[in-house]
Amino acid sequence: MTAETTETTGNTRTTTGFRTVTAYAAERPNGPLVRTTVRRRALGTRDVAIDVHFTGICHTDLHQVAEDWGAGTFPMVPGHEIAGVVSEVGPDVTRWKVGDRVGVGCFVDSCRDCANCRAGLEQYCTGEGGTVWTYNSTGHDGLTTYGGYSTGLVVDEAYVLRIPDALPLDAAAPLLCAGVTVYSPLAHWGAGPGRRVAVIGLGGLGHLGVKLAHALGAEVTVLSRSTRKREDALRLGADDHRATTDPATFTELAGRFDLILNTVSADLDLTAYLGLLRVDGTLVQLGAPEKPVRVSAGALLDGRRSLAGSQVGGLPETQEMLDFCAAQGVTAEIELVGADRIDEAFRRLAEGDVRYRFVIDASTI
Ligand code: NAP
Ligand code: ZN
Ligand code: ZN
Repeated sequence: MTAETTETTGNTRTTTGFRTVTAYAAERPNGPLVRTTVRRRALGTRDVAIDVHFTGICHTDLHQVAEDWGAGTFPMVPGHEIAGVVSEVGPDVTRWKVGDRVGVGCFVDSCRDCANCRAGLEQYCTGEGGTVWTYNSTGHDGLTTYGGYSTGLVVDEAYVLRIPDALPLDAAAPLLCAGVTVYSPLAHWGAGPGRRVAVIGLGGLGHLGVKLAHALGAEVTVLSRSTRKREDALRLGADDHRATTDPATFTELAGRFDLILNTVSADLDLTAYLGLLRVDGTLVQLGAPEKPVRVSAGALLDGRRSLAGSQVGGLPETQEMLDFCAAQGVTAEIELVGADRIDEAFRRLAEGDVRYRFVIDASTI
């Protein structure tokens, strides 16, 4: 990260304190990811500068670059599964020192004052400025945020997570989004011994859902499009694996589960899946396809079933998840890629060809 950039405006050269970092950005919707530079804000008194070591490629990065959820701001630097090391701290920073192993997840600021922020649910901030997402968002300073497909970040110390020594930085990076996104509903809906959990879709979120539900003591079933990933599912900790293309899956497993996590990135008719819940069971929607969720009312009325949603996890819960993963030896299964292969990784992720998370080696940026 180059600090103290000197800018030239006409004949005036001003040292602004902005930092320049190398990054990979989409310059237009659906555009390829190209090497460029972006500016980070000057280090504030409570900011830490982080050297990015690894960044996971989340399916959300594909949705955002494709503008699946609405207009994006370009150039866009994706990446919200960031693992690195503190390289500099502002004068009032108390929590971190140079050399600390840290992570940054899906958001980098929020109002800090609303009921949700005070409860550690910063991802649901309702205060002024709302949750500031790690990229494709506007900070409270009015600047566009740029994500982790870059060599360095500047983040307020309160929005930084500690990565325990037991976790390797590359395989820990996906925990910052995928990990907490599945951990949060598992914890909220009480996955544990004696509870039956199903995970729809064995991708980035799904494979961590299996590992974490198993580590929490629940009985886990994977519901996947085919039997191709059966061996993997069992190795990751699943007790059972069923193909959703086989109609017998829906009759044999009817009324079985307490909790179902739907991690599928595409549009899915949830009616048949709701039939797999027992009375008072809950299906939690985690995937975020661009089309509205479809479900028949009868599938909810019958069995007093619930359809819920959940978005990432707050700061305290993210730290709790990282500590739990360290204690249980849970990390992501990753395929490390150089920055020159980001487009290839995007293509393969769109096709479902990943086991189970691409992670960018930021030293190649
Ligand atoms: P991913 O790695 O691509 O995994 C998605 C899985 O869904 C695939 O591996 C595949 O599993 C299944 N799938 C894909 N296309 C399908 C189709 N057409 N029909 C049925 N199944 C299909 O993606 P991810 O990174 O885990 O993200 C999944 C979704 O969660 C994305 O929409 C992402 O934006 C969203 N997300 C939400 C949150 C949140 O806070 N709620 C956080 C992060 C991500 P099988 O091959 O096993 O069928
Ligand atoms: Zn994500
Ligand atoms: Zn708030």
